[in-house]
Amino acid sequence: MTKKFAVIGNPIEHSKSPQLHHAFAKHANIDLIYQKRLAPLDGFTHSIQEFFEQDGCGLNVTVPFKEQAYAQCDELSERAKIAKAVNTLWKKDGKLYGDNTDGQGLVNALQALDWTLQHSKILIIGAGGATRGVMYPLAQAGVAHITIANRTIEKANTLIHELQPALSHTTLSTMPLNALSGNFDIIINATSASLSGDALDLPDDLQFKYAYEMAYGKPSHFLQQAQQRNLPNSDGYGMLVGQAIESFYIWNGIKLNLQDFL
Ligand code: NDP
Repeated sequence: MTKKFAVIGNPIEHSKSPQLHHAFAKHANIDLIYQKRLAPLDGFTHSIQEFFEQDGCGLNVTVPFKEQAYAQCDELSERAKIAKAVNTLWKKDGKLYGDNTDGQGLVNALQALDWTLQHSKILIIGAGGATRGVMYPLAQAGVAHITIANRTIEKANTLIHELQPALSHTTLSTMPLNALSGNFDIIINATSASLSGDALDLPDDLQFKYAYEMAYGKPSHFLQQAQQRNLPNSDGYGMLVGQAIESFYIWNGIKLNLQDFL
């Protein structure tokens, strides 16, 4: 029987998840259909109930419903509990299960680029949902120090205060966005600045070896600055593929190789 999956969000038209999951299914020889599901802003709960009542096997959740998905689950993975957001849902024995694969998707993407994470020092710019979701998987991958820089510094301070107990082997610190400086192995742009076309200026006294932009498909001033310094850099398409591969693994038990789908 054809297995039914979907990605649910609002808006949803831009989603590349159906293409990815259909490519994975073809590769793994699995019979599935993966659709886009637009939920009304006030109708997320009804929409997921309907999907699972109609024999849906698994759902990916995207903006703006990841926190609502987290709140609805009966069972959560450790990384979803820490992220306080869920992007992967499935039902088992009448219970709704939730996981968050975004962070592992980023880790897999960085490893596929051969950027060493073990004992590394990382600067993440931005303190929103995406940053929260990647902190635990980065720490699990052996990152030694994570600094969070944010326009609203209080948000960064709150985040590290909350996450430090769960990330006991990683040193956490914060930095105001208008005072970026120091030496890092990897800097990650986890702001939505490039989505709105805003510039994120990287001053000369901010030194780094690699630059990763979580957004994809748009020109990035952040990445242009890494290119001007002749440093290795990447947009967030690998993270997108990485999180999809992790969801596919949860639902179908088959672990695919990220490099095959980049
Ligand atoms: P949120 O809305 O939760 O957070 C946005 C963050 O960006 C905040 O820290 C905010 O700062 C900061 N910000 C917004 N505009 C500006 C600006 N003009 N200058 C400086 N900082 C700014 O977004 P998410 O965390 O969910 O997403 C962040 C990015 O990550 C997006 O580009 C998103 O597309 C991308 N993403 C990519 C994924 C992938 O698979 N590749 C997965 C998930 C996210 P403040 O707190 O001061 O408002």
